[in-house]
Amino acid sequence: MTEPRPLSPRTLAAQALGRIDESTRAIVPPIHLATTFERDPDNLYRSGNVYGRPDNETVRDAEAVIGALEGAAATLVYGSGMSAAIALILSLGPGAHVIAPGVMYWALRAWLANEAPAFGISVDFVETEDLPALARAVKPGATRLVWLETPSNPLWGVSDIEGAARIAHAAGAALAVDSTCATPIFTRPIALGADVVMHSATKYLNGHSDVIAGALCFASDDALSARARKIRQSHGLILHPFEAFLLTRGLRTLDLRVRAASDNAMELANRLSNHGAVSAVLYPGLPHHPGHAVARRQMKGGFGGMLSIRVRGGAEAAIATAARVRLWKRATSLGGVESLIEHRASIEGAGSPCPPDLLRLSAGIEDVEDLWRDIDDALTG
Ligand code: PLP
Repeated sequence: MTEPRPLSPRTLAAQALGRIDESTRAIVPPIHLATTFERDPDNLYRSGNVYGRPDNETVRDAEAVIGALEGAAATLVYGSGMSAAIALILSLGPGAHVIAPGVMYWALRAWLANEAPAFGISVDFVETEDLPALARAVKPGATRLVWLETPSNPLWGVSDIEGAARIAHAAGAALAVDSTCATPIFTRPIALGADVVMHSATKYLNGHSDVIAGALCFASDDALSARARKIRQSHGLILHPFEAFLLTRGLRTLDLRVRAASDNAMELANRLSNHGAVSAVLYPGLPHHPGHAVARRQMKGGFGGMLSIRVRGGAEAAIATAARVRLWKRATSLGGVESLIEHRASIEGAGSPCPPDLLRLSAGIEDVEDLWRDIDDALTG
């Protein structure tokens, strides 16, 4: 008999790996809410479950699906994307040097700049899209981690994962990739050489704007993953089981949702490029985008659902445009089934590299003609 063909991500996700509940034969796994588990009479814990802060089967269900999609050896789910990212940074220990992108998810950048030094971790920010600049910034022997976010908020710069992995590894550092906006449907960073993939599972993985969650996916189950697991346990960062259940439920449609959002984003990016009220469209799928060539190489099947536009007339015109939408929702966050629009500089605040005339668009899965009519009307005024 020939070996069965490996299942595609779409199939793996749709069936949540096909697991059947042993006791009931249910095709949807139960939610395990217990915070404590019975010890065997001979004083052992053979079930592998001791206490809810480290152990939860419903959380493991979500981890198994995310880990399979990313091709990871170990996956840990956290109570938010921020807690996942911070757990990884803290896992490096005092004395570590970290390199992070100049433009990245703003709240994590602020934590790295303002809070990480108190834990003995020093951070340098460089344009990670520029590999020679990254090579100059790594300090062999001292740099423990290179952090990428690709495509990155809110300008959608694209960093070359393979190239960055080579540079990080030559310096003795690990490479971590915030792949929240690419999703495992379009990019598999571990296959490109990354050691860790991080997700704000709040976004596309859950996809319904009703769960805050995060994930770390490790290429190997080694000292770093063990440390990140320990920090999750001791800091109490595990996701609640009910939310873990919703996350697995959302993952079942990941492939369909992400492709629909990406198709909508591509179509809108093309149309907005010809709009008189728009001075620039930032989207890696557009041929003139500076990261387009790298994106074509490392994003398979789509460029994602996120784009930004710069509105002629500055901040005032951008805010007025956002005020006029009726279908798009004026809200922060991204990656849900509903389309969101946000004046990004307003939420990032002082010191943000975000241009004041920029609106960030998270394309949802609605009919693209409805989305277009609404944004076109709002821009036209
Ligand atoms: N990374 C990216 C790219 C994000 O957009 C966000 C949230 O907006 C985060 C990380 C943080 O995730 P969370 O809000 O789940 O803590």
